[in-house]
Amino acid sequence: MAIAPPNSTGQVSQEEIKKRIQALLTSQRAFFADGHTLPVAFRKEQLRKLQRVLKQHEQELFDALYADFRKPALEAFGTEIGFIELELKLALKSIEDWACPRRVPETLINFPARSYVYPQPYGVTLIISPWNYPLNLLFTPLIGAMAAGNCAILKPSEIAPNTAAVVNRLITQNFDERYLAVVEGGVETSQELLAQRFDYIFFTGSTQVGRIVMKAAAEYLTPVTLELGGKSPAIVVSDTDLELAARRICWGKFLNAGQTCVAPDYVLVQEDVKEEFIQQMAQCIKEFYGEQPLNSPDFARIINDNHFQRLSAMLTPEHVRIGGETDAADRYIAPTVLDNIAWDHPSMQEEIFGPVLPILTFETIDEAIKIVNRHEKPLALYFFSANKLYQQRILHEVTFGGGCINDTISHLANPNLPFGGVGSSGLGSYHGIASFDVFSHQKSVLHRGTWLDLPFRYPPYGNKLNLLRRFFKWL
Ligand code: NAD
Repeated sequence: MAIAPPNSTGQVSQEEIKKRIQALLTSQRAFFADGHTLPVAFRKEQLRKLQRVLKQHEQELFDALYADFRKPALEAFGTEIGFIELELKLALKSIEDWACPRRVPETLINFPARSYVYPQPYGVTLIISPWNYPLNLLFTPLIGAMAAGNCAILKPSEIAPNTAAVVNRLITQNFDERYLAVVEGGVETSQELLAQRFDYIFFTGSTQVGRIVMKAAAEYLTPVTLELGGKSPAIVVSDTDLELAARRICWGKFLNAGQTCVAPDYVLVQEDVKEEFIQQMAQCIKEFYGEQPLNSPDFARIINDNHFQRLSAMLTPEHVRIGGETDAADRYIAPTVLDNIAWDHPSMQEEIFGPVLPILTFETIDEAIKIVNRHEKPLALYFFSANKLYQQRILHEVTFGGGCINDTISHLANPNLPFGGVGSSGLGSYHGIASFDVFSHQKSVLHRGTWLDLPFRYPPYGNKLNLLRRFFKWL
């Protein structure tokens, strides 16, 4: 029973969608309750199947990503399919270790005893994903959910419909829907899902919708992970290698045409090297995409007309230093650098999420830190400087989800680094073992010995208080 978007057939009503979602939930609940997902052998078998299916259908996935927004194959592999493969390999290699009870140190107060944390799957989980990395942001959390022994309902984004359709088909054809199912659809379908009771909700998307998800989850006190967005700064200090900084910022910004949650949203460059930095950016854009980025096979398109219009409004001609060209029919916006930007400029009022890079300046490191700290806590921060003291100051004085010193985006490529935001950029983190942990309840259990039973805690208390005090002091 694949659930396609309500308008794709023109026949499926909202009421029908609701009934189907409820039926899916009921069947997944029963499947979970019967213990099918608990054996590690089952989890591994299903993860291996996912690995096989993705490998066999790789070309279809490339094609779907290209059809949605002309994502170049190299980017589709490097940031989506290859990335998922690495997470799958790690999960398959480590699942026995991750799933086994973890013994923790004892306290004498409970002597004789042994204490363990037992990771336990939540049950039926909901994974809602956005459109910008439509495979990565659906399958990477799913790998955690599967490794931890959960069932899952997946809600891909309707804004990347070709990818959503392929994902729906591949999951529906290869997995028991009592275990994994896909529900396609837009905002109403998402709201219908959120109105149901799940055991865990993993949401990736905008901060605004994150609030809606958290409110809905509160109804049943469902735990949530929220992977959200925001304005991630790149700070460039004059002591850095400007050519290298420009190249790494250029890559992180224009990858996926800037439609990346952790893309450098804006640059704060030290005033005295601003001109040189802009020259280096111009050089770099030319090297990456040629004189006419419009003709480059390596530069993606804006996902839809709404986003194209929203981004075009940021291209105020008096501020454009590089790029600025657009083609509405092709949803093309050139790699663009804006200069002399103030905080009330349209590009600084919201997350940009496109190939537009405003340049702002600072004079001292104190000023740079103050500027970032005056705004919402970013999902990522990138700091370019050779000065170790400045690096330490940024790390200690600024709160951000994660980031890099002297690079952009690459922190996501290490699955040993938990990935997530803080404050308005998110709640909770995943990747590698963190994905397993996020989808597991950590059940803490004390196994108490029976051969000794000290009497302090039992009434009548009489004059045991002093004795207890002395015991606590001794511990
Ligand atoms: P979005 O929040 O509009 O949509 C995400 C999902 O929520 C979609 O599946 C959509 O159908 C659903 N949705 C939309 N409106 C809803 C509503 N009112 N009620 C219930 N569900 C609703 O986000 P998007 O435009 O797809 O993606 C862009 C945003 O996602 C950016 O802000 C970006 O920074 C963020 N993002 C974050 C990460 C991360 O890992 N932190 C990754 C990618 C994107």
